[in-house]
Amino acid sequence: MPSFDTIIIGAGPNGLAVAHRLASKGAAVLVLEAAATAGGGAGLAHLSYNLDPRVEKAMGLAAHGLEWASADLATTALSPDGNHLRLEGPVGERLFGDVSDADRAAWSTLRARLLRFAAVLSPLNQMAPPRIAKGVGNPMLKLAMIGIKARMMGAKDFRELGRIILTNAHDLLDDELSDPRLKGALAFDATLGGWLGPRSPNSVLPWLVRLSGQVAGKQGALGLPKGGMAALGAAMVKATAAKGVTIRCNAAVERILVEGERVAGVILAGGEEIRAARVVSAIAPKTTLLSLVGARHLDAGLVTRARHQKARGGAAKLHLTLRAAPDFRGANLKDRLLIAGSEHDVERSFNPVKYGRVPERPGMEIMIPTAHELKPDGKYHLSAIAQFAPHAPADRVAARAEMLAACLAQLEANAPGIGALVEDAEILMPYDIEARYGLPGGQWHAGELSVEQMLFLRPLPGIAQYKGPVPGLWLASAGCHPGGGVSGSAGWNAALAMEAAG
Ligand SMILES: Cc1cc2nc3c(=O)[nH]c(=O)nc-3n(C[C@H](O)[C@H](O)[C@H](O)COP(=O)(O)OP(=O)(O)OC[C@H]3O[C@@H](n4cnc5c(N)ncnc54)[C@H](O)[C@@H]3O)c2cc1C
Repeated sequence: MPSFDTIIIGAGPNGLAVAHRLASKGAAVLVLEAAATAGGGAGLAHLSYNLDPRVEKAMGLAAHGLEWASADLATTALSPDGNHLRLEGPVGERLFGDVSDADRAAWSTLRARLLRFAAVLSPLNQMAPPRIAKGVGNPMLKLAMIGIKARMMGAKDFRELGRIILTNAHDLLDDELSDPRLKGALAFDATLGGWLGPRSPNSVLPWLVRLSGQVAGKQGALGLPKGGMAALGAAMVKATAAKGVTIRCNAAVERILVEGERVAGVILAGGEEIRAARVVSAIAPKTTLLSLVGARHLDAGLVTRARHQKARGGAAKLHLTLRAAPDFRGANLKDRLLIAGSEHDVERSFNPVKYGRVPERPGMEIMIPTAHELKPDGKYHLSAIAQFAPHAPADRVAARAEMLAACLAQLEANAPGIGALVEDAEILMPYDIEARYGLPGGQWHAGELSVEQMLFLRPLPGIAQYKGPVPGLWLASAGCHPGGGVSGSAGWNAALAMEAAG
C-alpha cells in the first residue's frame, strides 16, 4: 500500500477540490469515500448556481467533460390556471407574463439592487473568514475591504444594504412588489436550502449569498450541465484522479486517529488503519468533531458549541420516471419550473415543518433534464426539490408517504394527467439524505447557513479558518465558510489556508 501524507475524508465537490489543489502542490493525497461512487452531493443536486470559477478553471473541468446543456436557464413560475410568469436571464432579467407596469419597474430596480449587493459580498466566498481574536494582526482588514467596496456603492445603496441585510425576505418583497406569483417565486428562491421561511428574521442575507454565485461568468445565472449535475461531479473526479490523487470508494471513515495530541490518520469501518500526518475532513464539521474525533480530544466548550450547531434540513428530493412528456399547461419543459404560489404559500409550507409535520402544499423546484437531452426510450426524468419537509418527524415512514402524496398532488394541480404517466417515484426526505449522503439533518449546507452560523462563526467560532481543533486536522466541507452548493469553494479556501500555514 503506498503511503500518503494527506487523507481527505469525503469525495464530494469540496473533498475533490481540496484534493486537487493539494496534489497539484505536490502532496500525496488519498481520498476516502463512504459511498460506492465519488461525487457526493453533486448526485443529489439538479442545477448549478455557484460553481467556484477558481475551481472550474484550475481543475480544467471543461477538459474533463463539463459542458453546459444550458448556462442560463429560464425560470417559469407556474400558475395552476396556466397564467405563468417567465423569468429569462440571470435572476429574471426579463419578465414575461401579465405583470403590471408598476411591478415590472419595481422588480427591475429591486433585482439590480440585489445583484449589486450580492456582488459586494461575493469576494467573501473566496477567502477564509477573518479571525476575531486578540493579538491577531489586523483581523478586520479583509472585512474592511469589503466594507470599502460596499461604501463605494454610494450612500443610498450603502444604507439600503445595511437595512435589508437585517430584514426578512417577505417584508422586502412586500415593500416593493404586488404580484403574488412574482413574490412567491422570489420568496421560494430566498429560502431554498434553508431552515427558514420568508418571514423568518435575516432571510435576505442567505438569498444574497445565493445570488453571489455564478455560472459561466454570469452572476446569478443557473446552469444545467450536459448529463446533469452528476456529470459535473464526474468531471471533478476525473480532474482529481488526473492529478495523481487516489480515490477509494466504499471506504467509510469511522474514527480520526489522535496520538500525542495530534492527528495520526484514520480508522475505517471494519477496522483498517491508514496513517497520515494530515487529515482533511470534507464532511460535516459536526460529524467530524463529535463522531470521528470524539469529545475526549476536544475542549469542553467546543464540544458544547458543536452540539448546539444547527443542522436542520428542510428540503426533500423527488425523482420521477415518466412514460411521456408532462404538460405543465404549456410551460417550456427546458425551464426551471417553480411551484411556489404566493409569498404566503411559501411561509405556510414552512409552518408545519417547524413542528415536525408535512406541509399540505410544498413548494417545488422542478427540472426535466430529458427536455434538454432526449432519451432513446422516450421516457422523461423529472427531478424536484420539494420544500419544506420535516427532518425529524415522529413517524418517518408515514411522513415520507405523506410528502410523496403532497408532491404528486402539487404536480397534478399544475400538470393535469401527470400522475398517470408516473412509472417510478422515489422521494428522499432530509433523514434519507442524511443516511445516504452523510449531511447531518439532510441539511443543504452541512450546517444551516443562518446569520449566526456564517463567516467567522462558521462552522463554529474559533475554528472558522479551516484549521481544526487538533493539530494536523483541517476542515473543508460545505459546513465551513462560505457554505454549500456544488461549488468547491470551501475546499479551495481550505487548501489555500493550508498552503499559507506552510
Ligand atoms: C435536497 C438537496 C438538493 C440540493 N440541490 C442542489 C442543487 O441543485 N445545486 C447545488 O449546487 N447544490 C444542491 N444541494 C447542495 C449540495 O448538494 C451540497 O451543498 C454539496 O454537495 C456539499 O458539498 P461537500 O463536498 O461539502 O459535501 P458532500 O457533497 O455532502 O460530500 C461529502 C461526501 O463525504 C462522504 N462521506 C460522509 N461521511 C463519510 C465518512 N465517514 N467517510 C467517508 N466518506 C464520507 C459522503 O458520502 C459524500 O460523498 C442540494 C442539497 C440538498 C439537501
